[in-house]
Amino acid sequence: MKSSRNTRPEPTEVAIGDVVVGRAQTVVIAGPCAVESHDGLLRIARSVKASGAHLLRGGAFKPRTSPYSFQGHGDEALQWLSEARVITGLKVVSEVMDVRRVEAMAQVVDCLQVGTRNMQNFDLLRELGRVKNPVLLKRGMSATIEEWLLAAEYILAEGNPNVILCERGIRTFESATRNTLDLSAIPVVRALSHLPIAVDPSHGTGRRDGVAPMTLAAIAAGADAVMIEVHDDPERALSDGAQSLSLAAFHDLMADAARIADACGRPFQDHRVVAFPGRHSSGSI
Ligand code: PEP
Ligand code: MN
Repeated sequence: MKSSRNTRPEPTEVAIGDVVVGRAQTVVIAGPCAVESHDGLLRIARSVKASGAHLLRGGAFKPRTSPYSFQGHGDEALQWLSEARVITGLKVVSEVMDVRRVEAMAQVVDCLQVGTRNMQNFDLLRELGRVKNPVLLKRGMSATIEEWLLAAEYILAEGNPNVILCERGIRTFESATRNTLDLSAIPVVRALSHLPIAVDPSHGTGRRDGVAPMTLAAIAAGADAVMIEVHDDPERALSDGAQSLSLAAFHDLMADAARIADACGRPFQDHRVVAFPGRHSSGSI
């Protein structure tokens, strides 16, 4: 198996521009669940960049449970993401849902995300194996770790070695959280595979007050990257507002996360602590 540590003992490093996932440093991916507007995206992108995020996330095509919910702005949103990349210098992560769009999206998106609902869309995985872009492969919400690694295998087997696994919570009997974030997947994957592993505490908990504690826990448990949903007005977000951090809350989390990452010997790349705009000394926004 190409994903197995037996095949390749040394860790795989996946480069997204000059950001490397899987090296001895912690990478932070931040941005809105969905790209909602040109100006809103730029506001969020500038702010998360100033707070120290390394990559920008944002969905252009959204996999929604109901066909009547907001489905994303599609190609227009991809243009806004490209603009945000030029302005902030942050490379972008965005979900591809349709096998017919892989080639076109690979031209404009730095890292292609496979959502939890598509983890076993084998045709999509095979097609992603034929491009060179890094792929962020989310764990299926009902997938075992073995099934998840076999899904990664589809991409690797077609010739794309740049796979990042992303734990995003699994379905259990618990209903107080949207999903149960399985942080024990980190050491298990580490033992089985050389692929880097990211953690998404936003979908993993579904609640804003769960995001910061589980981000810190994920970093302490050895996650190579964390992916966090951030919105400039979470109450009005078109998707996943309940689990989105405000710009100020993300800024504060970054300071705490940088300390944990340092303490664990996996510091953030180029982290500078800057004051949140408009905030005076210790006051919070
Ligand atoms: C997302 O990242 O916004 C998303 C839809 O994630 P998931 O596939 O994990 O639900
Ligand atoms: Mn989301």
